[in-house]
Amino acid sequence: MKVILAQPRGVCAGVERAVKIVELALERFGAPIYVRKEIVHNQHIVARLCREGAVFVEELSEVPAGALAIFSAHGVSPTVREEAKERGLRTVDATCPLVSKVHLEVLRYVKRDYNLVLIGHDGHDEVVGTLGHAPDSITLVTDVRDAEAVEVPVDKPVMVLTQTTLSVDDTKQIMDVLVRRFPQLETPSADDICYATQNRQSAVKGLTEAVDLLLVVGSQNSSNAKRLVEVAGSRGVPGYLIDSADEIDSSWLVGIEAVGVTSGASTPEELVQGVVDRLRELGATEVETSTAVEEHVVFTLPPELRELQAAG
Ligand code: SF4
Repeated sequence: MKVILAQPRGVCAGVERAVKIVELALERFGAPIYVRKEIVHNQHIVARLCREGAVFVEELSEVPAGALAIFSAHGVSPTVREEAKERGLRTVDATCPLVSKVHLEVLRYVKRDYNLVLIGHDGHDEVVGTLGHAPDSITLVTDVRDAEAVEVPVDKPVMVLTQTTLSVDDTKQIMDVLVRRFPQLETPSADDICYATQNRQSAVKGLTEAVDLLLVVGSQNSSNAKRLVEVAGSRGVPGYLIDSADEIDSSWLVGIEAVGVTSGASTPEELVQGVVDRLRELGATEVETSTAVEEHVVFTLPPELRELQAAG
């Protein structure tokens, strides 16, 4: 059996930045540091940061007065920022710059008196934060069925925006339905699906030509990791989302000649290497990499933490 690793895979620039922010905040200000929501959707990263002194909370009401709170990579709505201000909390914002870009687009279009359609997953932390920037002006559309049924107010111009971690192909289908039903709808020249999500999906598409099974390493609440399993499935390659090597079921490998391995944008590489080691134990004799595109994206840290990193 051969293992083919997808490239690019794993941690994106937004996740790297968010995790670094928590690490530097712990170093600079000492534990405990409060983080609103999971900093990124990966249980191994969250567990490690907990051990190092980060306290993960669902809402700012759980953060003691005067403490330091970090906003997660998925972003927050303006009401969360206001609450932090009212409570006198010190805050550091780990929102991925590509999510902040969507927030700014919302504000820009609303200022120009547009209504907006947001394609995204109901209840996902990023979608909650984006909707919170203009709750009265955004209609959420979750899938093709929803796009067929939704009523979009067309008394004003309407622009479509998207969550950053969607399936590129599903989003196109949803967009096509919306444009058919509401011809006056304006669509962006490029959607908001981020480079990391797009690149990981392209790499999986390439892999499906060569493998009979795909293992995606990532947590169950990781949107972009789940999409990778779906992308493979839509091309006839069964896939499983696993948090680590422990979840591999050897019966999946019966009759498999080549297994693809990739990981979501918040999955540490050591978990992928653990999966490769386990596959070797289960009979893999060759490991190769299939590269779809090179990634060199890096995001700068917030100014209050940049100083510390320079000093360190
Ligand atoms: Fe940012 Fe994309 Fe990574 Fe999300 S997946 S943190 S939007 S780069």
